[in-house]
Amino acid sequence: MSSGRGSSPRLRLRRAGGRSRTHPWIYAGEIAGLEGAPEPGDAVTVLDQADALVGRGFYNPRASLACRILTRRDEPIDPAWFARRIGEAAAYRQALDLPGQAHRLVWSEGDGLPGLVVDRYAEVVVVQCLTLGMSRALPWIAAGLRGAVGEVAVYVADEPGAARLEGFEPRRGWLDGDGPETVVVAEGPARFTVRVGTGHKTGLYLDQAENRLRVARWAAGRTVLDAFAYTGAFAVQALAAGAARALCVESSPVAGAGAAADLLLNGFSGRAELRAANAFDELRRLERARARFGLVILDPPPFTRRKGALDAAARGYKEINLRAMRLLERGGILATFSCSHHVSPARFEEVCRAAAEDAGAAMRTLEPLGQSRDHPVLLTVPETRYLKGLLLEKL
Ligand code: SAH
Repeated sequence: MSSGRGSSPRLRLRRAGGRSRTHPWIYAGEIAGLEGAPEPGDAVTVLDQADALVGRGFYNPRASLACRILTRRDEPIDPAWFARRIGEAAAYRQALDLPGQAHRLVWSEGDGLPGLVVDRYAEVVVVQCLTLGMSRALPWIAAGLRGAVGEVAVYVADEPGAARLEGFEPRRGWLDGDGPETVVVAEGPARFTVRVGTGHKTGLYLDQAENRLRVARWAAGRTVLDAFAYTGAFAVQALAAGAARALCVESSPVAGAGAAADLLLNGFSGRAELRAANAFDELRRLERARARFGLVILDPPPFTRRKGALDAAARGYKEINLRAMRLLERGGILATFSCSHHVSPARFEEVCRAAAEDAGAAMRTLEPLGQSRDHPVLLTVPETRYLKGLLLEKL
């Protein structure tokens, strides 16, 4: 697994390097042949049809995405390599001067570590291995993380779906020793509770951290509707920034309980209301009741994970945006998002435009929004961009 080009197994591509010079994914159909009988999860040297080095990456014949390039150099993938790459990821976050103690420390392709996600919550890191190769490298990864950020408790929360595809046993638990059940982290002026190993993502929606603070700048004095609220993090930031009141709508009772706890933790229970409801129904109900809001946040789950279901997803986005625009008072602000990979920023804008036309609402674009900078987007790997949003003002 750790040997250099000379002795390591080789994978040869059918064609010249092309896209694989800047994109890390190699599909099974692109492979012309193998030399040296690599085992699933081994690091292989990838050569193009003309024998030029493409890079080295983890190989797994079980998945259609059979190899992900880790380095463009002829260097061993070993503990020192992981330490360097994780160190670079940590240095990038440090340079960003992020507003709190919670951030994504390693973001897979976005950090040149395809198949590895690491989130940091103060003294805890949560690691997700998405490939067999990464799962086998876990001890090296943990050592690299501790080398980069100091003594942290490492919790492993592999995704069962990815583990099944790659053929390894997903882990869920502390890697070595024990860690805290919950961690309270700061995000700007607010504090959030992370229940390690439970809930969505690895605890918080870190990809929205910067947007929460950006949207909160518009919150002072306004009545807020936080739809698809999860643990109410947008509402908490809005209240911290002086919002008058907030209504959180969330269908999952567990997430709702988390929202209640975080509103209490921040001292906002008196100014907030939680509704365990389907946001589609609740938006309709609020409209019938002629409710009005000064700030609406729409942060739904992905409405499609498949390209084929794009039209149905677009209808869903249009419906909630149309209703939100009707619920806004004049001068009201809408922060609306889509985290569906397959919905492009242009398509999302088109859907929001159609919603505004149907609502008869003139909406000023204050800012386009994207994922927090600790989820870096690589120009040559468009799949690294998934979260898009618009901050709109009703004129
Ligand atoms: N804004 C949140 C993240 C929201 S994730 C944050 O910053 O932390 C989307 C949330 O929508 C999830 O918590 C999910 O449980 C909830 N959800 C999914 N479908 C829903 C529906 N139809 N109605 C209400 N909530 C829903």
